[in-house]
Amino acid sequence: MTQRATLGILEHMENERRANFQWPPRRTEPQSVAIDSDQVEAGFVEIKRSRASHIADESAFRAFERTWLGLQDSPLRDRAIAAGFRMDEPGEYCTRCGVSGAFGHGCGNCAAKAIAWDRIIRIGRYDDLPGHVVRELKFERWRRAGADLGVWMGAQLASQLRSEGLDGASVAVVPTPMHWVRRLWRGVDHAMVLAQGVSEGAGVPVRGWLRRRFRMTQGGLGGADRRRNVRGTMRWRGPIAESNVPQVIVIVDDVLTTGETLSEAARCVRGAIGSGWKGRIWGVVAAVAEG
Ligand SMILES: [Zn+2]
Repeated sequence: MTQRATLGILEHMENERRANFQWPPRRTEPQSVAIDSDQVEAGFVEIKRSRASHIADESAFRAFERTWLGLQDSPLRDRAIAAGFRMDEPGEYCTRCGVSGAFGHGCGNCAAKAIAWDRIIRIGRYDDLPGHVVRELKFERWRRAGADLGVWMGAQLASQLRSEGLDGASVAVVPTPMHWVRRLWRGVDHAMVLAQGVSEGAGVPVRGWLRRRFRMTQGGLGGADRRRNVRGTMRWRGPIAESNVPQVIVIVDDVLTTGETLSEAARCVRGAIGSGWKGRIWGVVAAVAEG
């Protein structure tokens, strides 16, 4: 990439950050609203406020850690206990589309939808603790809680694998890919941080088998345009001989919103490997953004 092209991309990303920041992510289509910097600021204020309420009831030792050791949050388990949060079980959401309040594999929300993956595993809703941690990970580059959240996702995955009689040898964890320029810009590849936690929690290997092309995004794109924009952006770099591909490809992402990213990843995997592969594609996400 030439220096000029790189500068062009960086300039674009700065414009994108200013003009096309969608906060919070929206599950429903089709309008993508360009959000101004005030709203971006509001997002950070929200995080700071939740942190402030956390500070209020913590011990003096935690305050010391925070101030002098630079540890900005307590371990995730402590936060979950303080917030009364517990992980979702599969019986608490639709394992096909991921929405709350459905109890099986398929529900009224997804009955008429073509879905590119075979199963969704989630930790909770975006407006609950998992969403807070994802925002910290993405926008404050705070890896520790993100890694812990990944381990929780891995525990849920392990339980699903056990119930299907599958062991770790037949599974690969593949994060949704981030282009290296975006990675430099953001300072953290959040899906990779979560995937490493999933790998640790489930005892399965993580593989960087999906790559992403850099694609300029534009403010004000509607749902259909956003779909077109994500189409064809991923490439499979994993094995393609059917016998070498694990039985379950587990794609890890932070939030399931419209499902475009996960759909593109699933299409990319199936397209590369070919129809002879009888394996399954599961999506494991920290949070599902609903409504
Ligand atoms: Zn459903």
